Amino acid sequence: MSKVVIVGGGIIGMFTAWYLTEEGFSVTIIDKGDLRDNCSIGNAGMLVPSHIIPLASPGIISKGFRWMLSSTSPFYIHPRLDRRLLQWCMHFYRAATPQHVANSIPYLKNLSLLSKSLYLEFAAAHPEIELKQDGLLMLYKTAEGAHEEKEFALLARQHGLEAEILSPKEVQGLEPNLELDILGGVHFPGDAHLNPAALSACLHRLLLDRGVCMVSHLEVLDFVTAGRRVTAVVTDKGDIATDHIIVCAGSWSGEVARKLQLNLPMLGGKGYSFVVDNKPAIQRPTILTEERVAVTPYGNKVRFGGTMEITPANRHINMKRVQGIHASIARYYTNFKCPLPQKEDVWSGLRPCSPDGLPYIGYTQRWNNVLFGTGHSMMGVSLAPATGKVLAEQLLHRKESVLSDAFSPDRYSQASYQLMK
Ligand SMILES: Cc1cc2nc3c(=O)[nH]c(=O)nc-3n(C[C@H](O)[C@H](O)[C@H](O)COP(=O)(O)OP(=O)(O)OC[C@H]3O[C@@H](n4cnc5c(N)ncnc54)[C@H](O)[C@@H]3O)c2cc1C
Repeated sequence: MSKVVIVGGGIIGMFTAWYLTEEGFSVTIIDKGDLRDNCSIGNAGMLVPSHIIPLASPGIISKGFRWMLSSTSPFYIHPRLDRRLLQWCMHFYRAATPQHVANSIPYLKNLSLLSKSLYLEFAAAHPEIELKQDGLLMLYKTAEGAHEEKEFALLARQHGLEAEILSPKEVQGLEPNLELDILGGVHFPGDAHLNPAALSACLHRLLLDRGVCMVSHLEVLDFVTAGRRVTAVVTDKGDIATDHIIVCAGSWSGEVARKLQLNLPMLGGKGYSFVVDNKPAIQRPTILTEERVAVTPYGNKVRFGGTMEITPANRHINMKRVQGIHASIARYYTNFKCPLPQKEDVWSGLRPCSPDGLPYIGYTQRWNNVLFGTGHSMMGVSLAPATGKVLAEQLLHRKESVLSDAFSPDRYSQASYQLMK
């Protein structure tokens, strides 16, 4: 039986292990954390086939500059003299073009739709992940927001996705308990949501049942190589021999790639979330679009999440940003009053952000037995099952369920590795 080591036990690593074990591989997941608290746990849990536009898109540059000036804004790049940050920003700026958006849409859409169908299959057997097909509401309260979201809805329709443009009264019909201060909204009925912590716990248990070796508190520090193959991972507690390696190390994947002499630009996009009583009850998963705040109801509780701080990889909580999320709530839902959470009740996570907003999925040409599954930014939960399936197909040299060449981990090339050293 062929042995695979997966570096990183977040949602991408676990779904990759899931599809590899279906094919009879012997899988070990190594994680430097406790496997109970990474970016895959406290996120908004939205499954969003509607999100076909990558983060690197033309509008984000001008907005980004405006947001940078506010300490409570939804997007922030921590300015510092750091070559990797400069390189990332340069690639981000170059990618933010209409052409890049147009090229990316079919790839993101197909991966996302495949994921959704795999989730429906998975949820039918494992209802504890609390998957609900309640769609997604995008609410706006400014003319600029209305213009953008309507354009986005029309684009989604052009690509065969359902999108309903709603008046304030129609939104009110979907949210009868709330007093809304909005200009309208767009409803994507094809989107869904689940409980991300329940999903991770469920997968963890199922993988153990399937015999996957899940090792926590073990850091992959380096690799042993022979020719064009990696023969073992070097950890802080010794070497582990393997036939294949899949790097699913989230925001740290760039560091792991450097040990493999690869340039994989990656930064952590820090976000926060907190859970409060859902009173008066919000019914629909929603994005408060101007503030980029995600709202996910779970019965008598609701999670609010947001901000994208491009920072060094740490999970420190900046309460100014949390205040920004909190203040947004009553601007849209005027009768929803919740207290500002205490710092210890705020969760933070680092979204693995590639500069062009596309994940890295598949083999690297540099090594015959190394693959990557990372860089899913704001959509790691959404795209995890399809990523795992495609990686399993690549490992078996089977025809892939969806085209993945746009996701090549080599797209920032060997040559630029020299710049990074
Ligand atoms: C506020 C917020 C809301 C979000 N909402 C959504 C949403 O609604 N829908 C959606 O699809 N996505 C959402 N996301 C994004 C999603 O959470 C991420 O894309 C996803 O969790 C990334 O998963 P991952 O497995 O790549 O990374 P992670 O979950 O970070 O896992 C990577 C793992 O690798 C381990 N690791 C790293 N380096 C090493 C090493 N050298 N050795 C061993 N182990 C290592 C880490 O310890 C970590 O456990 C949200 C994110 C945030 C912050």
